[in-house]
Amino acid sequence: MFFAGSYMACEKCGKQTPRRGSRQKFCPECAKAESIKNVSEKQKQLFDEGGRRRPRPIAPRTEPKTLSEVAKEARSLGLTYGRYMALIQSGGLEGYIREKERGR
Ligand SMILES: [Zn+2]
Repeated sequence: MFFAGSYMACEKCGKQTPRRGSRQKFCPECAKAESIKNVSEKQKQLFDEGGRRRPRPIAPRTEPKTLSEVAKEARSLGLTYGRYMALIQSGGLEGYIREKERGR
């Protein structure tokens, strides 16, 4: 389906090579060499730019709490650490807090 039967000249060595895609620039041998070169250049780039690349957005909701923070929160709700963690894992913590607040 891609340019069946047509040929193109390799951009590197100039050899006529069957066209296999619209983005093809090189004969198979040069394409192989170029892809290896591109990979190593990309790695160099990554290394050069170092930590400036893609700063990760901080998601406060998924930030893990420290053990003492969790323990403090559990105590403030009148729960043991184990019960508190069980409620978080079952997704029942919000319901527990609501119920507790209603009872006050
Ligand atoms: Zn070539």
